Amino acid sequence: SLIIENPLDQTPIQVMIRVRPQFNIDSQSALKIVDNNTIYINNNENVHSFKYSRVFKPSDSQETIFKYVCEPILQHAIQGYNASFLVYGQTGTGKTHTMGLHQNNLLEEPGMIQHSLKFLFDHFNNSQLNPEDWSISLNFMQIYIEEIFDLLNPNGQKLQIREDSESNEVYVQDLITVPIKNIDQAIKLIEAGLNQRMLGPQNMNQYSSRSHTILNVYVNQRISYSEYIVSNIAFVDLAGSERIKKSNSTGIRMEEAKKINSSLSALSNVISLLGNSNQQYIPYRDSKLTRILQNCLNSQSKISIIGTVEPSEDNSFETYSTLLFASRCQ
Ligand code: ADP
Ligand code: MG
Repeated sequence: SLIIENPLDQTPIQVMIRVRPQFNIDSQSALKIVDNNTIYINNNENVHSFKYSRVFKPSDSQETIFKYVCEPILQHAIQGYNASFLVYGQTGTGKTHTMGLHQNNLLEEPGMIQHSLKFLFDHFNNSQLNPEDWSISLNFMQIYIEEIFDLLNPNGQKLQIREDSESNEVYVQDLITVPIKNIDQAIKLIEAGLNQRMLGPQNMNQYSSRSHTILNVYVNQRISYSEYIVSNIAFVDLAGSERIKKSNSTGIRMEEAKKINSSLSALSNVISLLGNSNQQYIPYRDSKLTRILQNCLNSQSKISIIGTVEPSEDNSFETYSTLLFASRCQ
């Protein structure tokens, strides 16, 4: 039987799926990509059909993802819109690859982040603006068990979220934001941030797939004598969405799993409420993740989510739940 999960309707949020190549050649494929919008999954004897803004095939390159997903949104961002790019899915399905955040591989396998930074620098370097009238800066953080760490600060302490009483802007107190002059400087900084996770008292690297990683890029432009526009573009590599088996997890692993589940469901609630135009109250305070993303996860921002999956039948339960999550965001 074929179960149609969702009609394809237009929402302010662009939800996509990326299917990575299958590595386990002994397993059957549970997925069938029907067309650019439709994917079937065979789960528990049933075939479910899902529709999204776009379904990317295993052969789709990082450049294709950038062109389709990032470029149109960055065109809006340089007009002053805030934006966020999120990747969601089971560990091992290509979230970090899609973002371009693999340690020591930042130049060899550029992802959304490198291509986007290059786009922004190329745009401004070729624009009519004087060099002193635009600037780009970034910050880089990790949320682990609802605690926030600055990846650009080697002496990193746990940081707190604050809200500016006048502008209502949400910010992370003491988080370091660094101005960058060019793409090389940006890459070096991000690389240092990723390497930094291995050092330090907490050795955050071992927790990276169970943490949310957020890179904020700020684009500042002076548009007249006294007028500036600032756009905040957030790149979010979410913690692995897989369910942890209760039987073999205790203590800290159980705590991690609970916090990941609750923050991902807070995210899903916020996003699905944003799609509902008469919604007044959005529960950003339900997690650190949604609170931090508040400035670029609202109805005035451009939002894009990619659910990452892999084809093999062994993972069909997790794949199905990623497809469902993504579907509910629409
Ligand atoms: P996640 O961050 O979701 O845990 P990764 O991005 O680390 O997953 O990907 C797991 C492995 O699969 C990595 O070795 C990565 O290079 C590889 N991979 C992921 N997506 C692709 C893809 N689209 N094409 C080729 N290799 C990929
Ligand atoms: Mg990862």
